[in-house]
Amino acid sequence: MLEEITTNARQIQEQLLGEILCKNAETEYLRGFLHGQTDKQLFKKNVPIVTYDHIKPYIDRIANGKASSDILLVEPLIGFSLSSGTAGGQPKLIPITAESANVTEALDLPETLLLKAPPPFGYWHRNSSEELLQQQSPKTNHFGLSIYRHFGDLSQVGKRMELLYAKPDVETPSGLKASAVTTRAFKESSFQAILPKLYTSPYETIFCPDTKQSTYCQLLFGLIQRDEVVVIGSIFAATVLRGIKFIENNWRELCSNIKTGKISDWITDSGCRKAASLILKPNPKLADLLEDICSCKSWEGIVRKLWPKTKYIGTVCTGAMLQFTAELEFYCGGLPLVSGFYACSEGAIAINMEPLSKPSDVSYTILPNTVYYEFLPIKEDCVTDSQNQVQLNTSRHKDTETVDLVNVKPGQCYEILVTSPTGLYRYRVGDIIKVTGFHNNTPQFQFIGRQNVALGVDMERTSEADILKAVAEAKALLDPLGLILTEYTSYGDTSSTPGHYVIFWEIKPKEGNNNNNVGKELDPKVMEECCSKMEDSLHFTYRMYRKENMIAALEIRVVKQGTFESLLDYFVSKGASLSQYKTPICIKSKEALNILDSRVIAKFFSPRTPIQDN
Ligand code: AMP
Repeated sequence: MLEEITTNARQIQEQLLGEILCKNAETEYLRGFLHGQTDKQLFKKNVPIVTYDHIKPYIDRIANGKASSDILLVEPLIGFSLSSGTAGGQPKLIPITAESANVTEALDLPETLLLKAPPPFGYWHRNSSEELLQQQSPKTNHFGLSIYRHFGDLSQVGKRMELLYAKPDVETPSGLKASAVTTRAFKESSFQAILPKLYTSPYETIFCPDTKQSTYCQLLFGLIQRDEVVVIGSIFAATVLRGIKFIENNWRELCSNIKTGKISDWITDSGCRKAASLILKPNPKLADLLEDICSCKSWEGIVRKLWPKTKYIGTVCTGAMLQFTAELEFYCGGLPLVSGFYACSEGAIAINMEPLSKPSDVSYTILPNTVYYEFLPIKEDCVTDSQNQVQLNTSRHKDTETVDLVNVKPGQCYEILVTSPTGLYRYRVGDIIKVTGFHNNTPQFQFIGRQNVALGVDMERTSEADILKAVAEAKALLDPLGLILTEYTSYGDTSSTPGHYVIFWEIKPKEGNNNNNVGKELDPKVMEECCSKMEDSLHFTYRMYRKENMIAALEIRVVKQGTFESLLDYFVSKGASLSQYKTPICIKSKEALNILDSRVIAKFFSPRTPIQDN
């Protein structure tokens, strides 16, 4: 099937656009540009390339009471997906129809569901739902197939310990539900049917509204079933890492619960307690064994020790998640980190056909049958940094002429535009990719970064990729000191003039337990050099502005251990989905900044102007 759709990509794309236009030419939105016509050239000539902000007024009208009218699309909406991207501080609402739900629900899940859930792709979702439910073998879908090639049918030999979190739906005034794609999928009966057989987390723990209790219980049940676990994962790498650290901080209590067969009193959620009453039995032998493992001096390779049958870690490790891979590799002791797919609330975009590639080398293969693509070429070339990670220097568009899917050029960076059956037309997803080659006639790409996530304290613009690269270079200086940078974020401080970049770092020692004295032990010389190193690796304009004193010295603020946990709690309390949460590389919100600032234990500034190019 994959061979067929990747070979016939051009025809499939043309047909998809034709269908979308025929169906929706009479909607209020398209009528304004096409006057009822369905011509594809006219579509590209007349319909503007837009961001979410442009279509927000239309979406707001639908959300506020015009659910069934033909504003953006003819097909009735069944709800909205809550995207992790925000507009005006609010999560974006992406329309969903009954048909599109089949596609996104399955694909936006951890790759796990791609193995067992109804195949998510266009070709398949046109089949009847009974047929879909019969597609239970990993050999019957694209990603499942490539995993199967490497590991066999893991569902026959064990379970998956995945940290999964559902988030309450929000009801819009029109009565439509807005929910995270993952949450919608967890509610599917097909998911619930496979859950007990394939996962260690009971349903109640996934739906527990208290994320700390949910995490504790999911890890507890994962440990109890350790002999069955063959895959560890979550949607994004940051969540897997948080899970491991949670065990690092709470293993004594977890072991005590396993020893006595009694769950801690602070677990008050009735669903979690009910699940525990069914699973948790006194098991002193297992508790002793786990205590033995966890009390070792170094936690290097701990995941293999705790779950000895694990074959791989299934979680997205590309893009903003690359920053977590070094630490994950440390804990996972050589287990492959498998980034299964690239997807967003706007559409199911691509899968990884080579699951064993290193996170920095992953190329995703586009699915030509889910949405209609156009690509906006980016002006500057991508550069490769010392760690062989693709990074983007700047991200200005070459022109406004878009390129079709089959005509993209290897080596070129593009911004992705989608036209989807859910009422998005020439819509900028906000992600930048670099084409690496083709599978048949379908492009493969590396994920570069999110557009518009930038620091700027003057006229300069610093992209997410720029910050990633600068931090990657600077954090290497911590290595000889036996320290690890565990999380970071940044902020453009313009409270004084000239403004300056602030990078918040959470640091911990490689060996031993968490140590909140870490700030006092830091060598100021090394930390100042970290600041300078970051500045040296930032782009030309930054360094020039610094030299001309239009930007002040870059500052590192070291925060207490656990600060980024508090940041996560804050974003979750503001409506972020825990399953989809990724630490923002830049902070814009005042409250989030207060959380970070109130936990600063040391501050360091770059003592010199950055090295200039000739
Ligand atoms: P959401 O809209 O909340 O579903 O988040 C989707 C966004 O997550 C995408 O637009 C990307 O920026 C990011 N994302 C999704 N999959 C990947 C991936 N495989 N690698 C890097 N970033 C990803």
